[in-house]
Amino acid sequence: MKILCIGMNYHAHLAELNNPVPEQPVFFMKPESALIRAGLPFFYPDFSKEVHYEVELVLRISKVGKHIQERFAHTYYQEIGVGIDFTARDLQRECRQKGLPWEMAKAFDGSGPVSKFVPLQSLKNPADIAFSLKKNGELVQQGRSTDMIFNFNQLISYVSNYTTLKMGDLMFTGTPSGVGPVQIGDHLEAFLEDKKLLDIKVK
Ligand code: ZN
Repeated sequence: MKILCIGMNYHAHLAELNNPVPEQPVFFMKPESALIRAGLPFFYPDFSKEVHYEVELVLRISKVGKHIQERFAHTYYQEIGVGIDFTARDLQRECRQKGLPWEMAKAFDGSGPVSKFVPLQSLKNPADIAFSLKKNGELVQQGRSTDMIFNFNQLISYVSNYTTLKMGDLMFTGTPSGVGPVQIGDHLEAFLEDKKLLDIKVK
């Protein structure tokens, strides 16, 4: 099982990190060890002083596919959840400056907690999905799938040109604006529409 992640997919988030708008989707991966089992906390890693939360919609791939055409891409996912793409922003900055890969900053243990999944068809409008994140009870991020630069089908199609998608693979689809730091003791709650799907304590 692999965890695909899309970077730089919301205009407002690009602006807050001073990044240009990408011409093609940007993707990277996290290992399976980035997941956190339900109910367990996120342990703040000692190699970073600036871990950020990034709430994202996460698709679960439902069948094997390669070179998927955009018009068929919707048949490769049936379920959606929310996840947090924890990012060691200080290490990411360093990697970027040196032109190095991002894994240190993005793929560490516990860096990708994901909620349970719900059928897309159970949502009131699967074409316009709202999601959000609260930190210590305060709303810090809010997004809508319609604000994505590249939509689900474009992402699935693009990524499948490079890597075969398999049943059970996950795809983080990018974060909206409002990313910020977490500290030991923080409490994060991620919502899909108005339903809380993920609850994580930082330890
Ligand atoms: Zn992200």
